[in-house]
Amino acid sequence: MNDTKTALVTGANKGIGFAIAQGLGARGFTVAVGARDEARREEAVGKLRAGGIDAFGVALDVTSADSAAAAAEEIERTAGRLDVLVNNAGIGGKLDDGAQDPTTLDLDVVRTVLETNVFGVVRVTNAMLPLLRRADSPRVVNMSSNMGSLELRTGPVLAAYAPSKTMLNAITTQYARALADTNVIVNAACPGYVATDFTGHAGDRTPEQGAAIAVRLATLPDDGPRGGFFDDAGVVPW
Ligand code: NDP
Repeated sequence: MNDTKTALVTGANKGIGFAIAQGLGARGFTVAVGARDEARREEAVGKLRAGGIDAFGVALDVTSADSAAAAAEEIERTAGRLDVLVNNAGIGGKLDDGAQDPTTLDLDVVRTVLETNVFGVVRVTNAMLPLLRRADSPRVVNMSSNMGSLELRTGPVLAAYAPSKTMLNAITTQYARALADTNVIVNAACPGYVATDFTGHAGDRTPEQGAAIAVRLATLPDDGPRGGFFDDAGVVPW
């Protein structure tokens, strides 16, 4: 088996995803930069390569099954297998005019957010699983949020975004159970409050700080935890 490990990061063209790509690249992974926009994708690939990282672009819109299937074919052609999948791509959904007030909620806002943050993760994971199963120590990391924690109840009321991450944590445990007898280890990560376009750059953490837990979970040893939700400080109650 080829010694160079390959990692696919979704939404890797900017923000935390780009920092995860940098972090995994610095650890010797070849990074597949999953991004839906060609220009943004190629710019990110160029920046990673300029930093000495072995990277290639993969067209990937996580809301499209065809796109996920084509991305898997491209990775199979290029690398033959996949060692790490980081499901990082995510959206907050419409936020203006109380758009996520549950008492007046437009269900299309919820559908849009779930389509990316939850169904997108299932779609991409299942497209990539045949390639992940070919790796010696495959890892899947789902980028979640402590806003999805029913116990912590952090952040403002956001009736689409917060439950999408609660569901993502729940799906993560389902994957871990379904894959318990395999070497595929699946966990969820919370990056903290990170200064990216997503937060209008208001977060108190850098993308690199936000990426650290995802990089750690992507490089867990074979006896590492399965189906958990972690931040830099350890287990996050959810
Ligand atoms: P950004 O908005 O900076 O980046 C989001 C990335 O996701 C972009 O690359 C974007 O691509 C991509 N994306 C969105 N929709 C799709 C799609 N349909 N297909 C492919 N890619 C898509 O956000 P962050 O880096 O801050 O967030 C990354 C993850 O971390 C998200 O899942 C978010 O929920 C989570 N998170 C972030 C926190 C924070 O404080 N920033 C806190 C907790 C969790 P494009 O450029 O094309 O739009």
